[in-house]
Amino acid sequence: MYKGLVCRECKRQYPAKALHVCEFCFGPLEVAYQYDKIKISRQEIEQGPKSIWRYKKLLPVTTDDLVDLSAGFSPLQKANNLAKELGLKSLYIKNDTINPTYSFKDRVVSVALTKAREFGYKTVACASTGNLANSVAAHAAFAGFKAFIFIPQDLEEGKVINSAVYSPTLVGVEGSYDDVNRLCSEIGSEFDWAFVNINIRPYYAEGSKTLGFETAEQLGWRTPDHVVVPVASGSLLTKIHKAFDELCKVGLISKPTTKISGAQAEGCSPVATAFKARSLNIKPVKPNTIAKSLAIGNPADGYYALKAVEKSGGYIESVTDDEIVDAVKLLARTEGIFAETAGGVTIATLKKLVEAKKIKPDEETVAYVTGVGLKTIEAFSHKIDYPKTIKPSVQSFKETIL
Ligand SMILES: *Cc1c(COP(=O)(O)O)cnc(C)c1O
Ligand SMILES: [Zn+2]
Repeated sequence: MYKGLVCRECKRQYPAKALHVCEFCFGPLEVAYQYDKIKISRQEIEQGPKSIWRYKKLLPVTTDDLVDLSAGFSPLQKANNLAKELGLKSLYIKNDTINPTYSFKDRVVSVALTKAREFGYKTVACASTGNLANSVAAHAAFAGFKAFIFIPQDLEEGKVINSAVYSPTLVGVEGSYDDVNRLCSEIGSEFDWAFVNINIRPYYAEGSKTLGFETAEQLGWRTPDHVVVPVASGSLLTKIHKAFDELCKVGLISKPTTKISGAQAEGCSPVATAFKARSLNIKPVKPNTIAKSLAIGNPADGYYALKAVEKSGGYIESVTDDEIVDAVKLLARTEGIFAETAGGVTIATLKKLVEAKKIKPDEETVAYVTGVGLKTIEAFSHKIDYPKTIKPSVQSFKETIL
C-alpha cells in the first residue's frame, strides 16, 4: 500500500520504477506511502509470519511472490549482565546475528530482490563491504537470479567464502568500498541489472525499517528511550527513525521520543566527525579500520543520518579498533553473543555514551548488533586466549590446568 517514490529534497513525485535520483535536483529518491490508506492492526501483525514479511503493508512490495529466506524477527535479548557492568537499569540487544546469512543485510536484500523480480529483472548486482555480498549471493541463488557481486579485494576471508559458496560472479576490486561503489555506478549505467544499492536502493533501504518495527513490537508496542545504531552509509539509522515515526502514523504506537545515537569506528568516522563539529557537511575519508562492514568513507545517507540524530536528541561517537575488540569480548562474556567488528563498534559506543552520561542510567536502551563474529575472526585471533594443551591424561590435566 504505497504510491511510488518521492524526492527527499524537492518532494517531486515519481512512479514506482527502478530509479534512485531525482531528475530535477539530483536529490535521493525515497519510497512514499499513503499512510491514511494503510489499515493495519497489532493483532494482524502478531499473527503474521515470523520474518520481516509480517510488516508487508509497510514495505514497498505489491506482489505475493516473495524472495524470502526468512530474514528478520530476530531476538530482542534483555541484557541484564551487560547492563549491570555498564551501569544501566534496562538494556536490550537486538541480536541480528541470527539471520539467513548472519547479518541484518538479509532484511534489505529480501525486499530488494522481491522488488527486482516484480520489475522483471533476471540479473542482480551489488557493491558491498561484505555482508551485503553474502546476502545477495544467497538470496539470488535461492530465487534463480544471475548475480554480479563487487567487493573490495581485501575483505575478511569469512565474508569472501560466505559469498563465493553460493556461486555468484564475485569480483574483487583493487580499491576501497568507495572505489567499488563508483565503479558500480558506471557499470550500472551500461547494463540493465537490478543493482540493489544503486537503482533499487530506495526499495532496498526500506527493508531496514523492520529492525525498528520489531523493536517496538517486541517491547510491547512502544519505543525505548535510547537506541544505538551502527553507521556505514547511514541508511539503517535513518530507517530506524522512519520506522518509529511510521508506526505512530498508522496508529500502532504513541508518539516516539526515542533518542537515536550513531556508532562509527574511528578509522572511518566521517559522520561522527561532522556531528562533533556541529556541521551537516560530511567530508569523505579514506577508511582504515577493522570494522570493514562499516568502512564507507563517503556515506550516501550521512547527511540524513545527522539530521535524524539531531532531531531525536541523540549523539554520534567513534571508537578505536582496540575498543572494538574489547567490546566484542565484553558482549560475548556477558551475554553469550559473538558479534562481528561492527557489533563491537555499537557496544563500545554504547559504553562510551554511558560513561559520558549521554545515556543516563535509567534510560531504557536498545543496542543493534548487526552481524556475526565468525565472519571477522582475523580481527580477534591475536587477542583471545588460545587453549592450553595437555597430554590425554588426568595427571596432565591436573598439572597443567588446575
Ligand atoms: C551494512 C551494515 C551496517 C550499516 O549499514 P548502513 O549502510 O549504515 O545502512 C551495519 N552493520 C553491519 C554489520 C553491516 O553490514
Ligand atoms: Zn528533487
